[in-house]
Amino acid sequence: MKWTTLALTTLAAASRSRTAQAFVTHPKTSFGVRMMTSSSSSSLRANVNRLTEPSKVLMDTTDVFIFDCDGVIWRGDSLIEGIPETLEKLRDAGKKIFFVTNNSTKSRAGYKKKFDGLGLDVKAEEIFSSSFAAAAYFEQTKFKDSGKKVYIIGEIGICEELDMIGVPYIGGPDDNGKVADMGPGGKVVHDHDVGAVVVGFDRNMNYWKIQNAQLCINENPGCEFIATNLDAVTHLTDAQEWAGNGSMVGAIKGCTGQDPIVVGKPGPLMIDYIVDKYSIERARICMVGDRLDTDVLFGQNNGLRSVLVLSGVTSEEKLLSKDNEITPDYYCDSIVDFFVPASVSA
Ligand SMILES: [Mg+2]
Repeated sequence: MKWTTLALTTLAAASRSRTAQAFVTHPKTSFGVRMMTSSSSSSLRANVNRLTEPSKVLMDTTDVFIFDCDGVIWRGDSLIEGIPETLEKLRDAGKKIFFVTNNSTKSRAGYKKKFDGLGLDVKAEEIFSSSFAAAAYFEQTKFKDSGKKVYIIGEIGICEELDMIGVPYIGGPDDNGKVADMGPGGKVVHDHDVGAVVVGFDRNMNYWKIQNAQLCINENPGCEFIATNLDAVTHLTDAQEWAGNGSMVGAIKGCTGQDPIVVGKPGPLMIDYIVDKYSIERARICMVGDRLDTDVLFGQNNGLRSVLVLSGVTSEEKLLSKDNEITPDYYCDSIVDFFVPASVSA
């Protein structure tokens, strides 16, 4: 697999200098994410278009659809209504389809099982998870040649992806439940051979892991800080929103003063990989997601068109709010509307 030279150069430069110039503080998450600048909120609101003529403005101008998963294809473990039929129609229309998710708790193989379990016929090579993106980053930066190992805060997905490419690692689920000795003279003894810390969503985050990551990044010369994603909230149950990987990354950012290299959305790695591997023209790609600050921004930052669906975390009210500065090209209730014109309600 190959990343584009540009992406690698950018990442390598970011890694070396730890620069935060390409990042600004997101108003909600307070983490560094790359934002599109804008002139005024009133003009942005006027530019938000409901998808009322999908055939003309979307289907005729798009060869490739990149779908976020949670909130677009499924919610938690439930398939969103009409999705199998819509994906079939897209394939029948000759569209290429990819699935890109910031959730790092599963590997690509793990996601393939999830698609299979939901009765969706999806090929493994059509799935891009941020766990895969982390592994691809290490492969392309030839991390293995450094002789170092990776420290993982995160779940099994990252471990499985690093196993696939033979990059040595420690941590992950092995550090669940660890408690630091904080008595007199107590300390966490970290591994001086750790050359990178990866932080992905971890339902078993603990203070030992934070301290170990802090020591690796602050005390091991050149140790990289990599985030699979910066999502503020995520879906664990349908009862409420839950703290996302932004909270884990924020903990490490807070004790190191470092900005991470983000390999998931809205960073460019996954789209660069897809564009490079399949020789696709960016203007003919449409990113479809339910989040403004990851999915839509991912599309905008990378020269793609974007559609926001209201089947996930973003409400129409939030989209049209004066406080929102991220504007998709179009929005609709769900991807079912790609074939059935939505009633104009905005
Ligand atoms: Mg989503």
